[in-house]
Amino acid sequence: MARRKGEAARARAERAGEPLGSISQPSGPGVPGTDACLRCGATDLTRIRMALTDGRQVVFVSCPSCEQRNWFPLDGSGIPLDRDEIVGGDA
Ligand SMILES: [Zn+2]
Repeated sequence: MARRKGEAARARAERAGEPLGSISQPSGPGVPGTDACLRCGATDLTRIRMALTDGRQVVFVSCPSCEQRNWFPLDGSGIPLDRDEIVGGDA
C-alpha cells in the first residue's frame, strides 16, 4: 500500500531485462522522432505518452545518457514541440 510507483516500475523493468516497453510504448514504435535521442543518438530512451494541457497527445522522450528531453506529437513528423507549446502560459 505504501509502495512507491517509481520504484516498483524500476524493479519490474530490471527483472524483465527489457526497457519498459509495455508501458512506455502503448501504441508500438510508431511515433516519429522517438526512436533515438536527437542529441546523442541513444535508443535506450524513456518514453511516456501523455496529454498536454490543450489536449494534444504527445510522447515525452527523456534520454538517460545526455538528459535531453523532447515532446513529440503522436501525429507529428519527428519534429519535437517547442518548449513554449508544452508549458503554455504556466511558466
Ligand atoms: Zn541523448
